Amino acid sequence: MAVLLLNASYEPLAVIPQRRAMSLMLRGRVDAATEEAMIIRGASNVLRIPTVIRLRRYINVPRRGARWTRRGVLQRDGYCCIYCGIRAGQRQRGQLLNKHNFTVDHLIPRSRGGKNSWGNTACACPFCNTRKGGRTPHEAGMPLRWEPKIPRVGYLVASGEIPAAWKVYLEV
Ligand SMILES: [Zn+2]
Repeated sequence: MAVLLLNASYEPLAVIPQRRAMSLMLRGRVDAATEEAMIIRGASNVLRIPTVIRLRRYINVPRRGARWTRRGVLQRDGYCCIYCGIRAGQRQRGQLLNKHNFTVDHLIPRSRGGKNSWGNTACACPFCNTRKGGRTPHEAGMPLRWEPKIPRVGYLVASGEIPAAWKVYLEV
């Protein structure tokens, strides 16, 4: 069994082994963040280790931004067109769209200095891509359905069964 470590802000930081959790508790670095606990029976004592613990002091975790890739853009947008909202698996003018039909659109076209960046790219269907051409969404009169953002970096890897007490803090 492992313990979910939260930042003081309640943001999940890591899944750590019991032993490490115990050490943090004994050093007074963390508080229990749930009632749910594991009972550890030692030679002469019984220890309760909460399944979720929270740092008393906030630590600043430098986040490496996710590296931009075409595939990353399509995945971030869930193969849904930012202009018309059509998704993979839906029909467009009689054609069944699959994931391979979607392309990465540059809001400011590359021919005009638009960059390969999370903020300047989004998933578009073949129809909208052709319609927009080398124009900006504004010029083409094609409003965005959402604002393209840097995707959240998945920094927590939990394997196996996730204890109920963790689910509040993890997007599962
Ligand atoms: Zn579209």
